[in-house]
Amino acid sequence: MSSPLLAIVTGSNKGIGRAIALRMARETPMQVVVTARDAARAKQAAEEMTRQLQQDGEAATAPPTSEFWPHQLNLLDGQSIERFARYVQSLNRRVDVLVNNAGMAYKGDAFNRQVAEETLQCNYFGTKHLTELLLPHVQPDGGRVVMVSSRAGAFEKLTQPALRSRMLEATTVEQLDGLAHEFIESAGDGTYAEKGWPRQTYAVSKMLLTAYTVLLAKRMAPTHPHLLINAMCPGYVDTDMTSHRGVKTTEQGADTAVFLARLPREVEQQREMYSGHFWAERQ
Ligand code: NDP
Repeated sequence: MSSPLLAIVTGSNKGIGRAIALRMARETPMQVVVTARDAARAKQAAEEMTRQLQQDGEAATAPPTSEFWPHQLNLLDGQSIERFARYVQSLNRRVDVLVNNAGMAYKGDAFNRQVAEETLQCNYFGTKHLTELLLPHVQPDGGRVVMVSSRAGAFEKLTQPALRSRMLEATTVEQLDGLAHEFIESAGDGTYAEKGWPRQTYAVSKMLLTAYTVLLAKRMAPTHPHLLINAMCPGYVDTDMTSHRGVKTTEQGADTAVFLARLPREVEQQREMYSGHFWAERQ
């Protein structure tokens, strides 16, 4: 029998991340690293999901030999990101699936430099930092990387064509970082609208994440032709983030992420269609 796959799903103690972790573990024997900002919350979620799998077994549905391994991770804390990467390295295994699901959004219309800085730190800079540290451990032969982004980050929200082109045509991560810092500055000094940015830090953070995903897929393609890297939107989902106003269940929200995380080996032959894209509803 083949050994279980190793998956990492960030921000999987609750919400969409938890539904992604549970669904993958139910479908395939898998060891899933579950993260939360707080170690105790990660541990509790891992225990609860383990019990759910045991109940599945008792109910005589497929009894997979999956496990949940809890770990602390805070994308706002560089040391936490580095500790997490060392933990992954210590597993001495290739990571078959990395789902960068962890994310945050300020509620209401809070908009200032601090809000912009924190939101971009978590959803863009922190996610990118983690991804770059984990990439050497991701399985080059059949690995899958999924970024949980959002349609809220549509590039059309950049109202100046020149700014939009700079985002869409960026060829280096440094250019994207530069745009991120420009946005933070403009949120601080109030010039964001005249410079073409939307008054939405969350939207900009996800736009940057999607643009980074596309660049990353291009960068990895020549050396890692069997590694597929994509961004996706889960839809409007009933979670804490949406104050439970979302119309989709977390299971429905997880669907496209799981689809991308488990893309079959055959599609690697059509890499241009299956890597470096933004997906929603499996499209
Ligand atoms: P939840 O608020 O329910 O869950 C967010 C998860 O991210 C939690 O596990 C949380 O951990 C973790 N997290 C938050 N901040 C950090 C941080 N600084 N470092 C590490 N982990 C963190 O949100 P959702 O399940 O709704 O969101 C999951 C993803 O889906 C996010 O990336 C979100 O932007 C995206 N998304 C959601 C949509 C929706 O309608 N719900 C729509 C489009 C995209 P903790 O419990 O420790 O805070």
